[in-house]
Amino acid sequence: MTEQATPELVVAKRTLVGEGSLWDPADKVLYWLDILSHELYIYDPATGVNRTIPTCQAVGTVVKRAAGGLVLALHNGFAFLDLDSEKITPIADPERSIPANRFNDGKCDPAGRFWAGTMEFGCAPDAGALYCLDTRLEVTEKLRPVTISNGIVWTADARTMYYICTAANTVRAFDYDIDTGNICNERVVITNEGEGGFDGMSIDAEDKLWVAVYGGWGVRRYDPVSGALLRDLRLPIECVTSCAFGGDHLDELYVTSAVGGFDAEKLAQQPLAGSLVKIDAGVQGVAAFSFAG
Ligand code: ZN
Repeated sequence: MTEQATPELVVAKRTLVGEGSLWDPADKVLYWLDILSHELYIYDPATGVNRTIPTCQAVGTVVKRAAGGLVLALHNGFAFLDLDSEKITPIADPERSIPANRFNDGKCDPAGRFWAGTMEFGCAPDAGALYCLDTRLEVTEKLRPVTISNGIVWTADARTMYYICTAANTVRAFDYDIDTGNICNERVVITNEGEGGFDGMSIDAEDKLWVAVYGGWGVRRYDPVSGALLRDLRLPIECVTSCAFGGDHLDELYVTSAVGGFDAEKLAQQPLAGSLVKIDAGVQGVAAFSFAG
């Protein structure tokens, strides 16, 4: 079950908190970001170019907009990003009155709603919430309280949503109503019994979960129905933050990580930490959904 994965270096960078990996199957590029360096990246494997777009504030996650451009979840709420002008246009900020909070991870559901949650910059307990930006650009609070809102995915039939709060260190499941975006019947399906904290998450074509484990030196594949740990892919990277299936066949797993707080010794011991790397997943992922608003 435990295996040493061999990461291939994709983009060498010491991101403080690399995050938000998301493959765009139409444009064949990988979006990712550094939350605390306030930078969005677009990596193009065809050219090897990693474009940097400044966001000028903490950026928690990114999704593609079906109508063009991207949508960000920022310190100051949801916003559109125009890829030509690099202009950021605010949409809505449900926590305008809480400047100590910022948005963290999030993704689109199969109907094109953008779900993302918040956290206090210093991880104060229970300070955050999970929100949904619907296609009419209205924001609804979906879950409170949470501490470090993180990975979120939906099953292929769109009837179950899986969600991680890193402080809880579990994967929770909810029954999902794709017509309304309502969640109910919350239950814990996986509890982290190993090192570290559950962070970002992707889902594969077999409805199995791939969880990046911060402080856990790798990525784990779980069966969310049985709760079983199926694979424990170890990386020479301590603080793994997110993972996304990419490539022509959606079978390459891109992985981000963090080096914030590392001293010189740790940096030297972990030359790949903070960089964008990829590993051979041996299974196909599911293409991410775009924002439909
Ligand atoms: Zn995260």
